Amino acid sequence: MVTSKRINPKNKNIAIIGIGETGQGAALLAKKLGANVLVSDSSEINNKTFFKKAHEMGINLEIGGHTNKIYNSDLWIISPGISDKIEIIRNAKNKGITIVSEIEFASWFTDKPIIAVTGTNGKTTTVSIINDILNKSDLNPVLAGNIGFAFSKAILDDLAQCDENRIYVLELSSFQLEHISTFKPFISILLNITPDHQDRYENMEAYIKAKMKIAINHDSESYLLFNSDDSQLANKCKNLHTNKISFGLVNDNQNTLKINNSHIAENQTKITSIDSVALKGKHNLSNILAAASVAKILNVSNKHISETLSNFSGIEHRLEKVETISGVTYYNDSKATNVESVIAAIASFNNPIILILGGKDKDSDFNSLFPFLNKNIKKIVSYGEARNKISIALRDAVELNKVFSLRDAVEECRKSAVSGDIVLLSPGCASFDQFKNYEHRGNEFKKIVKNVAHA
Ligand code: ADP
Repeated sequence: MVTSKRINPKNKNIAIIGIGETGQGAALLAKKLGANVLVSDSSEINNKTFFKKAHEMGINLEIGGHTNKIYNSDLWIISPGISDKIEIIRNAKNKGITIVSEIEFASWFTDKPIIAVTGTNGKTTTVSIINDILNKSDLNPVLAGNIGFAFSKAILDDLAQCDENRIYVLELSSFQLEHISTFKPFISILLNITPDHQDRYENMEAYIKAKMKIAINHDSESYLLFNSDDSQLANKCKNLHTNKISFGLVNDNQNTLKINNSHIAENQTKITSIDSVALKGKHNLSNILAAASVAKILNVSNKHISETLSNFSGIEHRLEKVETISGVTYYNDSKATNVESVIAAIASFNNPIILILGGKDKDSDFNSLFPFLNKNIKKIVSYGEARNKISIALRDAVELNKVFSLRDAVEECRKSAVSGDIVLLSPGCASFDQFKNYEHRGNEFKKIVKNVAHA
C-alpha cells in the first residue's frame, strides 16, 4: 500500500496547476479549508465567472505562464491534462513538493464510500447507470469526476452537512489516477483496457499502470470488479488482495452475474430479460453487468436494477440516433475517440454502414480496424487531420474517400447512401483539430445532418 501523508490545508501554500474544471474545484475546496491558494495556468484562459469568484474569495491567479511563485508551495494539485514529463513538474519533484491529483486531494475530506470507475471505454455510460440504479435505492449518490463535475466541488457542497447515505460515484480517467496515493474506493471497477492516449504514454504498459493505480489501496474491506473478458486485465488483477468480483459476456464460473437464457441472472434468480434492456450494443451489456454487480454488492433490489435497465436508453454522443432521412439512419458516436470504441460501434449494427472516421490522431493504430471492416462496412469517409493516415491504413480493405471537413464528409455519405444504410460518425480520433471537444463535434454533426442530408 502507498501511504503518502495527507496534508492539512489550513495555512498551507497550495498551488493548483491548471484552471480546468478540476483546478477550479480544488481551488475552491482548498481555500474553504483555510489554505493560501495560487492557481496557475500556462494558457491565456478566460473564465470570467471563476475569476470573479476567485477574486472574491482571495484566491491568487496567474494565467498565460507560470512564475516562480508556484515553487513556494507545500502542496501541488495538478490538472489531469498536465503530463508528468513537463519541466515544472520535474522541478517541483526536485524541490520535494508533494504533488497530488484533484481526486486524491478531495478524497482526504470524506469518509463516505466511493465507487470509482475506470477503463478505456464505457466509463460515463457505466457511472450513469450506477447513479440511476442507486437513485432508486435508499442511498444518495453524487456523480462526479471525469464526467464534468469535479470531485472537489461535490466534497465542498457536502462540507457543511453531508447526507448520511451519501455515496460518491466517480468516473476516473487514467490521467486522474496518475497522482493518487491514499485514495481508497470502497468499490473500484476496471471496465477494459485497450490502446488509447498513446500520444501521452510512453507505451501501453505505462497506460495500464496508470489505470491499475485505482486498486493500490484495496484490501479485505473493499471490492474490485473487473472484466473477465479482458484477459490482460484479468491477469493484472489476479494477484491483488481484495474482494475480487468479475463480470463479462463470456460466462465464467467466477462471475457473480451471468447471462442465462437471455436473462441477466444471479445464480438461478433472473434479474431482467435482455430484451427489456433499453441500451443497445453488446459492449453496453458488459457495462450493464458491471453496474448491476455494484448494485448487488450494495444490496439494491433486483426490481430497482431491472427498472433502471429498462429505462436507461443511452447518453448523448454515444451511438445516438440522430434521424432517419429517406431510409438512411444517421448515428452520432462522436465520443468514440479510440479504435476499440469504433469496433464496438460497428458490431452494434447489422445494416450496411458508411463510416465517418477522422479528427485529431492520438497516435492510434488504425490498421487494427482492418479485420472488422469486411462485415458490414460499405464505405469509409475519412476527414480532418488524420484523414491521410486513416486512408493509408484502410484503403485496401474498403472503398474510402478523403475529405477535409465534417460537412464534406456528411455530404459524401449522403451521395453514397441508399435506403437501409446507416451513416455512422464514430471517428476514432480526438476532436481538437476542428472542434472544441467531442460534444461540439457531435452537435455540429447533428446540425449538418439536418442541413445537408435534408437538402
Ligand atoms: P468513456 O467515458 O470511457 O469515454 P463512454 O461511455 O462515454 O465511455 O463511451 C465512449 C465511447 O465508447 C462511445 O462511442 C461508446 O459507444 C463506446 N463504448 C462504451 N462502452 C464500451 C465498451 N465497454 N467497449 C467498447 N466501447 C465502448
